[in-house]
Amino acid sequence: MSKPNATVLIPGWMHEHARRVLGTHFSLVETPDCDLHTHLSSEMRASIRGVACRARIDRQFIDALPNLEIIASYGVGYDAVDAAYARSKNVVVTNTPDVLNEEVADLTLGLLISVVREIPKAAAFVREGRWKASDYPLSRLTLRNRRVGIYGMGRIGRCIARRIEAFGLPVAYYSRRPVEGVAYEYFPSLLELASAVDVLISIVPGDPSTANSVNAEVLSALGPEGVFINVGRGTVVDEDALINALRTGAIAAAGLDVLADEPNVSDDMLALENLTILPHIGSASVSTRTAMADLVARNVISWFDTGAALTPVP
Ligand code: NDP
Repeated sequence: MSKPNATVLIPGWMHEHARRVLGTHFSLVETPDCDLHTHLSSEMRASIRGVACRARIDRQFIDALPNLEIIASYGVGYDAVDAAYARSKNVVVTNTPDVLNEEVADLTLGLLISVVREIPKAAAFVREGRWKASDYPLSRLTLRNRRVGIYGMGRIGRCIARRIEAFGLPVAYYSRRPVEGVAYEYFPSLLELASAVDVLISIVPGDPSTANSVNAEVLSALGPEGVFINVGRGTVVDEDALINALRTGAIAAAGLDVLADEPNVSDDMLALENLTILPHIGSASVSTRTAMADLVARNVISWFDTGAALTPVP
């Protein structure tokens, strides 16, 4: 295949499928990290017109590439990319929406049921050889008769809501505005939503508008039978408030797929019996991650073929 006159940089890790597809279309340059002044000469930096990455992309990085046109980010959340600065420099940023919706929604329901019915603890009970001595204790919590609130009725939020409906549970939601065509009850604030439900699922992006929005007040409104699930971003939660709410019984239990400072997990969190933590695996199946990698590559190819990216961020 002929290679268009474009060089694409991969700073740090990139999925093998994206690397392979991009390599058949473009000249690739790879660096171990984003310290471009250390790794690349100024001529090399000037030759780079595209970036495919799952890295923190800041102003300094963008300024180091004077002829950059597109940053194709791996993942739907693009909080690690300074997209506003990129836009000010006429650099298009793309993400990988939609191809992971159902996978992340599946994991969300799995995490919710794991938390409520203690599946990880019950499985450990068998492996530890304790079943012969006694039955596993009845789970204090149940999903039955609960009302579920979804914080962020976007692409993934809607897939989660469909699954909750199939479980026979009512759904309500909060986003900054009601979503057209969505019939679930809308609450105009997160606090009002938390007061009306006893399961709160957070699937909003991590940005300044959502930072620490799940705070002590919201958790206390969820109540002592309340279950909190976070599959969006760790920064959305005031983690000290969450630890305190789980310790004091202000809420009953929580499940987190994302942490503010992942992969670091505090001892305070690990000590909590009523907290289940997963290592950010929402979209992490072989097939879905390959689909995401494919979209990264197709965004770059489309940009240089047609002048339009497939999934530019808003
Ligand atoms: P969408 O953009 O489709 O949906 C985001 C939703 O959040 C919208 O309903 C939006 O509505 C709402 N929202 C955004 N900001 C606020 C705010 N300040 N207050 C209230 N609501 C807000 O994104 P996706 O559904 O595709 O993905 C959501 C997030 O999930 C991603 O950004 C990513 O961080 C996370 N994610 C996590 C994964 C994992 O592995 N755990 C995997 C994939 C995604 P409105 O703007 O109208 O308020």
